Amino acid sequence: MAIGILPSTMPGAVTPMCSECGVALCYDIPNEEYQEAKEFWDNWTCKECNPNYKGSLKKFKEKSMLDKLTGIQKTAMIKALFKRIFDAASPMDLANIAFKLTASGDTAVFKVHSNTKNLRGFIHESGLLVLEQNPGKGSWCGKLAAEGVECVWIMKSGTYLSFMIRHNDEIHILRTNPRNRQETEDRALNILAK
Ligand SMILES: [Zn+2]
Repeated sequence: MAIGILPSTMPGAVTPMCSECGVALCYDIPNEEYQEAKEFWDNWTCKECNPNYKGSLKKFKEKSMLDKLTGIQKTAMIKALFKRIFDAASPMDLANIAFKLTASGDTAVFKVHSNTKNLRGFIHESGLLVLEQNPGKGSWCGKLAAEGVECVWIMKSGTYLSFMIRHNDEIHILRTNPRNRQETEDRALNILAK
């Protein structure tokens, strides 16, 4: 519990209290501000207890920003990232065009994903990764990439969420089915056969 109403707390506000040592923040935050980043304030720790204190609220807001997007906004964002990746000739080229998306006042920043395999990709603070398929892999998708098909994986914490391919100028997002891994391959090949 890192929130308190103390005798000194202003009406309509709360006083953050360190969830480790219990010390109170020297200023109150308005209720709306608390609700907006409730998870952050409920786990708030003071400067002394948290070595990563600086910028932690900003980081929290950035992380949770993607959760606030609608399905349509998310699709548009992912497609824009896909286009950026294939507009760039190399990861070096991408470095100059780090992706920023602003929606309802918040900004999501995608940084260029650095990797030793020279693959083009973007990563978000939350761990969401959009990475081109490695054409050097012998897998079905690796073969597609080697044939020049533009395709990427969307991953988070090591989990493959979706596969994306461009065919006839149209970008398709194929959500993976954890109970049927074959399904993604079948659907991708089906699209490419058209
Ligand atoms: Zn503390």
